[in-house]
Amino acid sequence: KKNRPMLEVRNLHVRYGSITALRGISFHVNDGEVVALLGANGAGKSTTLMSIMRLPPPEGPTVSEGGITYNGIDLLPVPAHVLVAKFGIGLVPEGRHIFGNLSVLENLKLASYARTDKENLDADYERVFSLFPRLKDRRNQRGDTLSGGEQQMLAMGRAFMSGVRFILLDEPSMGLAPLLMQELFRVLKQLNEAGMTILVVEQNARIALKYAHRAYVLEAGNIVMEGSAEALRNDPKIQRAYLG
Ligand code: ATP
Repeated sequence: KKNRPMLEVRNLHVRYGSITALRGISFHVNDGEVVALLGANGAGKSTTLMSIMRLPPPEGPTVSEGGITYNGIDLLPVPAHVLVAKFGIGLVPEGRHIFGNLSVLENLKLASYARTDKENLDADYERVFSLFPRLKDRRNQRGDTLSGGEQQMLAMGRAFMSGVRFILLDEPSMGLAPLLMQELFRVLKQLNEAGMTILVVEQNARIALKYAHRAYVLEAGNIVMEGSAEALRNDPKIQRAYLG
C-alpha cells in the first residue's frame, strides 16, 4: 500500500480551443493516498480533474499531448460514466451536484443504483450515516434545503454509496465556515482510512496540507512544486505564497 501508482498523469497538455490551460504536467496518486492539488484561481486545477473525467469538448478541455493511466490502463478514450461503473473512479464536483428535489436518503439510493454488490449496501449506509451524523438526522429532508456544508457532505456520501474506490474532489472547502471545513476534511481522512484513495483539488492550502499525504502546486498550468505535505508546510516559499 501507498507505493503503487494508481492514477498516473504524464506530460499532460490541455487546451480550450486556442487557450492553453495545462502545459505538460505530471503527477501520480498511489493506492491508499490522499493527494492534494493546490493552486490559485485559474491555475488549472479544475481542468486537471475534467481531463481525468473526460468531459468532452466543447464544454470540456482537449488533451493535446501526454497521457493519463489508471492501474496501467489508458483512461483517455474512456467516457466518464464508464469510469464510475467499471473503474470505480468518482467525481465530487465543485458546486455539489446533488438532486435538490429528492431527500437525502433518495440521493444516496440513486447513487448506489448501478452497483452490482448489493449485499454491501446496508453496511455502506451505516458507514455514511456514522461518518455524517448530520445526514442521518436529515435523511428525509429535501436536498435543496440542506446547508452548503451539508450538501457537500451529501455529495461525498453519494460518491461513497456509488461504490467507487478513488474519488476526485473539487474544492470541498469552497464556501464553508472554518469549523465545517475541518469536519469535512476529518471525514475525508476517515474515508481514506476506510480504503478510499483521494485526489483533492484545493485553493485552501492550509487545510489541504493538514490532511493530505502529498501535494502538488499548480501555477499557470505548470506544476511548480511537489512533496510530502509536511515538507510543503515547512517550505518558506509555500508559507509566503499560500499559507501567509
Ligand atoms: P479556480 O480555482 O478559479 O476554479 P482552477 O485552478 O480550477 O481555478 P481552471 O478552471 O482549470 O483553473 O482554469 C485554467 C485556465 O483555463 C484558466 O485560465 C481559465 O480561464 C481557462 N479555462 C477554464 N475553462 C475554460 C473554458 N471552458 N474555456 C476557455 N478557457 C477556460
